[in-house]
Amino acid sequence: MKRRVFIAGNWKMNKTAAEAVATVKSLAEQVKGIKNLDISLFPSFLAVLAAKEAAAGSNITIGVQNVHFAANGAYTGEVSAAMLVEHGISQVIIGHSERRQYFAETDETVNKRTKAALAAGIKPITCIGETLAERQGGKTEQVLETQLRGGLAGLTAAEMEKVVLAYEPVWAIGTGVTATSQQAQDAHAFIRKVLAQMFGDATAQKVIIQYGGSVKPDNVAELVACPDIDGALVGGASLKVEDFASLLKNASAVL
Ligand code: PEP
Repeated sequence: MKRRVFIAGNWKMNKTAAEAVATVKSLAEQVKGIKNLDISLFPSFLAVLAAKEAAAGSNITIGVQNVHFAANGAYTGEVSAAMLVEHGISQVIIGHSERRQYFAETDETVNKRTKAALAAGIKPITCIGETLAERQGGKTEQVLETQLRGGLAGLTAAEMEKVVLAYEPVWAIGTGVTATSQQAQDAHAFIRKVLAQMFGDATAQKVIIQYGGSVKPDNVAELVACPDIDGALVGGASLKVEDFASLLKNASAVL
């Protein structure tokens, strides 16, 4: 079964609204002919609305980098799913390793945020991945399975089909070290095996699983050519128009 390839750029805490608008407009011009993959960008909260306006009419979707699980209340600094829906936001990154590392996200909070996004009709891109110490200790599969079973607990199969997973080995994020395509494919196949146990094989085959970790224009084609890799979550290489445009064109060309 052919799954659609989905490539997303996570801008993290980079770009003012003015910079975001300029980048979106320029990128949209360069990638307007690409029809065989889905493209999204995730600016910081204050740049999201201007970026969304700049992307109107293009093949680029604008999403956000976090959502809180409560409907409202005393959660200083957080944004609810209803607040995102009010502005037509349809995608959210959840549980990025930087949020797990610096903002005390756990599989439990990832689970609650994923459920809150789904309940509001927003597509979650839920992130999982092992650290270097965990990989070197032979614990990769154990860590991934724990994150999957915790982060996706209580979802129905129908809900799971709306979730995008991003496998991001922490040791490959922002380091310039990419997992080999074989390491990434092996991890993705394992993730799909666990999904099949949790939600059934038909659902597991439908879930889009992105790879993230130092994806660049020159390695994206090899990664998306792997049978279980359905796209990429890209950090650094999504910040410059030339880099992200060539990354998208190179991925599009192998599909
Ligand atoms: C990320 O932030 O999700 C990421 C994968 O970053 P980079 O591409 O810079 O490694």
